Amino acid sequence: MKRILVAGGAGFIGSHLCKKLLDKGNYVICLDNFFTGSIENIEQFYKHPNFKLIEHDITEEYFTVIDQIYNLACPASPPHYQYNPVKTIRTSVMGIINMLELANKYGATLLQASTSEVYGDPLIHPQIETYWGNVNPIGVRSCYDEGKRCAETLMMDYHRQFGTNIKIVRIFNTYGPNMHPNDGRVVSNFIVQALKDEAITIYGDGNQTRSFCYVSDLVDGMIRMMETQNFTGPVNLGNPEERTIKDLASIIIDLTSSKSKLIYKPLPSDDPIKRKPDISLAKNKLKWHPTVEIRDGLNKTIEYFKNKLNLNVQKQSLL
Ligand code: NAD
Ligand code: UDP
Repeated sequence: MKRILVAGGAGFIGSHLCKKLLDKGNYVICLDNFFTGSIENIEQFYKHPNFKLIEHDITEEYFTVIDQIYNLACPASPPHYQYNPVKTIRTSVMGIINMLELANKYGATLLQASTSEVYGDPLIHPQIETYWGNVNPIGVRSCYDEGKRCAETLMMDYHRQFGTNIKIVRIFNTYGPNMHPNDGRVVSNFIVQALKDEAITIYGDGNQTRSFCYVSDLVDGMIRMMETQNFTGPVNLGNPEERTIKDLASIIIDLTSSKSKLIYKPLPSDDPIKRKPDISLAKNKLKWHPTVEIRDGLNKTIEYFKNKLNLNVQKQSLL
């Protein structure tokens, strides 16, 4: 049994990671400040003898004897990370320093949840790990993009300077149950709008692309990366199946049999035009590739939001 810390464990991806690590027989400490995470995502683990929850902000130091650390603590949706941009960049930069110090002290391996946003609005397509990116350093997305880029720099410098055991994964758009209904990301927005027969909000002309990975595939890739020896990354983790945002809207309307119409809103500034991972490195080093088809993953996510929305209606009628 390993002692594993999941910073950001009450969030969307973190809660799935905690579950998988517990199922594998590990002792899991979930560290979270609940900025975007929720108790509902992790309450199922409260009675588990190998689970411990600590409410903590990773911009402050934290020490405990530990074997592995997964750092996912950072708001991930554009409206959330832009809500308090200074805090977002502090979370990425101060947070990773605190996690690196923890890893150093106890000889633990630290895996950083980096992002495809380090490629910015990419000029190379699909994106490969050797591409340095096209990031605006002074725009509204910079607090997130540059924070994550600086975290990667700190990971590599601690590794070179102190021999810290590090792993960097660059995560591409991931979706699934436990996403926050008001999180503002495209999959959660479109599903909630479709289920309520409300207008589906397309930003820009909807021809921008993303590549969507189901959360169980991603978590599998993250754990494989942690368990792979002599490989720091960075490595892309994502589903290379690329589609336009308009296509995503039609699939969701179809799967939910929704009466929603599309409405068009301005494209937020610095919104990347296209995004698709090259996953050759992950295939080669981790023997990993995604297996969940978009319609299967979306059906599971739709089911989750249906239950969640019903629950909220019930809760409101009790008030
Ligand atoms: P999320 O917002 O659901 O989860 C982030 C978690 O971190 C939340 O539980 C939040 O409360 C916690 N947190 C935020 N700031 C904190 C702080 N200062 N101290 C302690 N906890 C803090 O987001 P997610 O989609 O689960 O993303 C998890 C990680 O994966 C993030 O680091 C994100 O940048 C990265 N990532 C996600 C995606 C994606 O598509 N979901 C893509 C690329 C990268
Ligand atoms: N988007 C959209 N409607 C929404 C939410 C997002 O058209 O209601 C677009 C957004 O402009 C972007 C894409 O969908 O082009 C993915 O947005 P998301 O916030 O999910 O992730 P990111 O931009 O960080 O990849």
